[in-house]
Amino acid sequence: MIKPVLQDDAFLEDVSRAKNDPDHLHLWWLGQSGFLIQWQGHHLLIDPYLSDSLTRKYAGTKKPHVRMIERVIDPERLDFVEVVTSSHNHTDHLDGETLMPLWRANPNLTVILSRANVSFATERLQVDPERLTPIRADGEAIRFDPFVFHAIPSAHESLEQDENGDHRFIGFIIQVGKWTIYHSGDAIPYDGLVERLKKWKLDIALLPINGRDTARGVPGNFTAEEAAQIGKQINAGTVIPCHYEMFEFNTVSPEKFVRAAEQIGQKYHLLECGERMDYLNF
Ligand SMILES: [Zn+2]
Repeated sequence: MIKPVLQDDAFLEDVSRAKNDPDHLHLWWLGQSGFLIQWQGHHLLIDPYLSDSLTRKYAGTKKPHVRMIERVIDPERLDFVEVVTSSHNHTDHLDGETLMPLWRANPNLTVILSRANVSFATERLQVDPERLTPIRADGEAIRFDPFVFHAIPSAHESLEQDENGDHRFIGFIIQVGKWTIYHSGDAIPYDGLVERLKKWKLDIALLPINGRDTARGVPGNFTAEEAAQIGKQINAGTVIPCHYEMFEFNTVSPEKFVRAAEQIGQKYHLLECGERMDYLNF
């Protein structure tokens, strides 16, 4: 199994050391689509998957979820998180075994997800609906200082809406400090995606690169090439690829993304799991 570059105590020490540096935005990749973002002592988690729930759920089935990388950190030890986002209901993006212990560690935790997914999430997370913060992909902004959240539809692999028109798969646009970050969740290109994104000056785009293999029942994401191209089309300051090296059946070499990004001149940062990236605030 791959070992994260920072794990357990070493990871927590890095997070706490970074707090003494208020001039940078700090971002750690936690594996799959999970990121920790720190700005001036405030902490946001995006799509954390910090358990073995899928490996256990699919053990002995035709779709075993064999983990490729060890867990970065026990969610129960992340007792400084104020807000979490979830892009959709799949367990690697809305994991009860991550979010319930996280909630115990942070009783006032705010969990932001699509309004379409509130009732599903109340079951999975065993909370009352009023503990969840719904967002709509219609231009609505949710402010949770120092973060501001906007949602836009994602296609995984199609755009799906509930009876109220709320999207089941969303991406987040997150403003913090001077930065604007796009996290697509699980997503493939669709007509109008680039136009929506181009309305923003996106500094950092966090994009899946594992592609799709519909015939084998592997749900769809950007291929490595598509992720690089989307970054270029939306003028992203940098692309950080994700959603690889978590499960053996559903991964890709990040080198594929690197080649594609270099070929078209798209800036990128390849992060290792548990690794920190710093962005200076000028
Ligand atoms: Zn996923």
